Amino acid sequence: MSKAALKQAYIDNLFYIQGRFREVATPHDLYMAAAYTVRDRLLARWVKSAQAFKTNHARTVCYLSAEFLLGPHLANNLVNLGITKIAQESAADLELDFATILEEEEEPGLGNGGLGRLAACFMDSLATLCIPAIGYGIRYEFGIFDQRIENGWQVEKSDTWLRNGNPWEIPRPKICFPVNYGGYTEQYRHANGTLRRRWIPAQEINGVAYDTPILGYGVGNVNLLRLWKAEASQSFDFQAFNVGDYYGAVHAKIEAETISKVLYPNDEPEIGKELRLKQQFFFVSCSIQDMIRLHLHTVGALDSFAQKFAAQLNDTHPALAVAELLRLLIDVHDMNWEAAWNITRNTFSYTNHTLLPEALETWPVQLFERLLPRHLEMIYAINQQFLDEVRTRFLHDEERIARMSLIAEGEQRRVRMANLAVVGSQAVNGVAALHSELVKTTLLKDFYELWPEKFHNVTNGVSPRRFIVVSNPRLAELITEVCGSDDWIQDLTLLRQLEPYATDPAFQQRWRNVKTAAKCDFAQWLLLQTGIQLDPQALFDVQAKRLHEYKRQHLNVLHIIRLYQRIKQEPNIEVVPRAFIFGGKAAPGYYLAKLIIKLINAVAEVINHDPQIEGRIRVAFMPDFNVKNGQRLYPAADLSEQISLAGKEASGTGNMKFSMNGALTIGTLDGANVEIREEVGAENFFLFGMTADEVQRKQAAGYHPWEVYQNDPELKADIDLINSGVFSHGDSALFRPLTDHLVNHDPFMVLADYRAYLTCQERVSAAYRDASNWDRMAILNVARMGKFSSDRAIAEYAQQIWQVAPVAV
Ligand SMILES: *Cc1c(COP(=O)(O)O)cnc(C)c1O
Repeated sequence: MSKAALKQAYIDNLFYIQGRFREVATPHDLYMAAAYTVRDRLLARWVKSAQAFKTNHARTVCYLSAEFLLGPHLANNLVNLGITKIAQESAADLELDFATILEEEEEPGLGNGGLGRLAACFMDSLATLCIPAIGYGIRYEFGIFDQRIENGWQVEKSDTWLRNGNPWEIPRPKICFPVNYGGYTEQYRHANGTLRRRWIPAQEINGVAYDTPILGYGVGNVNLLRLWKAEASQSFDFQAFNVGDYYGAVHAKIEAETISKVLYPNDEPEIGKELRLKQQFFFVSCSIQDMIRLHLHTVGALDSFAQKFAAQLNDTHPALAVAELLRLLIDVHDMNWEAAWNITRNTFSYTNHTLLPEALETWPVQLFERLLPRHLEMIYAINQQFLDEVRTRFLHDEERIARMSLIAEGEQRRVRMANLAVVGSQAVNGVAALHSELVKTTLLKDFYELWPEKFHNVTNGVSPRRFIVVSNPRLAELITEVCGSDDWIQDLTLLRQLEPYATDPAFQQRWRNVKTAAKCDFAQWLLLQTGIQLDPQALFDVQAKRLHEYKRQHLNVLHIIRLYQRIKQEPNIEVVPRAFIFGGKAAPGYYLAKLIIKLINAVAEVINHDPQIEGRIRVAFMPDFNVKNGQRLYPAADLSEQISLAGKEASGTGNMKFSMNGALTIGTLDGANVEIREEVGAENFFLFGMTADEVQRKQAAGYHPWEVYQNDPELKADIDLINSGVFSHGDSALFRPLTDHLVNHDPFMVLADYRAYLTCQERVSAAYRDASNWDRMAILNVARMGKFSSDRAIAEYAQQIWQVAPVAV
């Protein structure tokens, strides 16, 4: 870890792995050599961790997630190793540009948004808290698409993150499991004389492990992220090959490999694609087989499986694990139903991530039966036993039984994955206090009435390593200096030490300098990306997250249009200069979300080029919002837009990242906003809009957006301006699908919250005029964000849900 050793290792790696010397190395070679140099240092610690966990027989957390949105590894690993400074100095000695090397890394975009990023933050915190853990997921060859903006529209480009090699992973060709699909089930007589059922599958593919070491911060502990890649199974294709069907065999190979080919880019609405179900079963089956292998290898008898593993289902995507563990224990390991079901139920816990009904996963029974006939039998058996239990508790309540059944009856019968996850788990949690309440009182009410003790809340958190230390080194340095140590990076509640400085003018000045420097950096990057110039003195008003109607980017746009009209009508009016910055991807098939992107860009084009505006307001859509670009953005924000309709955002984690970087929040009482406001103080948070209760009542009473539109002349003028065609070169039809939808349906009640939002934005502008007071609020926001470290979240899971303890390495 000395500078001399790092430099030597770097030069060796450049030569022996990349086959290059300084003079001919490309920027990519230089990055690869750095990555290998750091990886070697992780591997040494990894071996030690594995040994410690083995001798301790510690309970291991298995985090099952279809997505891990990791972000670039290099800078984060340097921070966690504590060698950022030495690495910078080494680079300088070797006459290398450190920033350029970091910039070379392409992030593994193996997730859509918040859910995948949560899994990544949790991996960081599990390692930092020294909790033995394995993250299990899919090694997608193509992650979330790269977003380009062409003529104002989103254009998707395939993400080829593996093209130049991935230095952080280690292929494990020997850790490989067969995964089957299709076929039928049959009865047979077991060697012990009993009649049993078995699965005769039609297809077999292999899952091969690719391991990425995940290092904790400031500790020697390294955990494992194990992602599965699908490959053709030799034994199966061989038959086709032997009978001379060479092309048939090749086709089977191609088909097998499509299973881990691409991440489905939909965040919320379910699409019910066969390949997606195959993917889910694929990674779940490999992971459960791997856990069984590990258990047999280290402990032996499977009776103690649930003592050895706590498996967390990150949403319902891995819920098939319930049926798969049960099947393997019974069909393969000869366990009886009772024992196998007990183990299964004590192994799993389930995290719910959404209340949106359209986002709840269900699969047609027909499709399920065709792909996984034996698992469907397992699910029927679970269901029968479960519904008997419900019947004894709630006699004759047939409606309740129908609601709770794992199977939705109807024209097309469907398997309800959330119900399977709840029945097969020992604990269920939501991801923010409000969300967990709504889970209990609405979505899973029946289950809560049956098993109240199963239900928990664990409010999400984010990693302060990635989202402060790596993203915002200037802020980290300032905090460390004022706190007298960098202990806050491991115990974020220590940020409270900043509070006394909140009103100190000298400290405020330094704070402002840090913020301005971040804004300048971002403005410079954005100019290169988009050609749009931002004034770093303007209020940076930011909304960056997936594009979705419930997140209400269009409400933000209506405010921008209102300001625009105000200036046009009264050109000399005093306004607080603002830069409105948007970022986020829309699911490729989500027409309205893509139209909102087009609208943002159309409004930007008109406003940014209107001489009467004189740059007082600017609008920019930053392309390709991902973890890497997010890290540039969070430090630069003054205002964080968290304006979803109350009751719709489960938690949000973007809200936490912004606030930790000194942005103030304008937000509704939704998701974790509620708790952020409690922590930072109501006077340091810009609250507006209906509460979740008010939303429910208004919807029950009948909501008529058309009346709101008719009765608010400014709102009407804003929507009419969009319809006039001024933002679309006279094409008055372009945005009609959006404006008509708002005026006639408005499912996320944009119009109902419009007036409150505008009024609140005026308070924001007034507050920004008083720079010292704004800084005071921003400092207090950071000082009081300790709760929202993912370390706190993981400590709660460990205690309440997993009953696991740290193991010192
Ligand atoms: C944190 C994060 C999100 C989640 O943002 P929300 O505002 O909570 O929806 C989505 N995408 C990326 C890349 C993130 O880093």
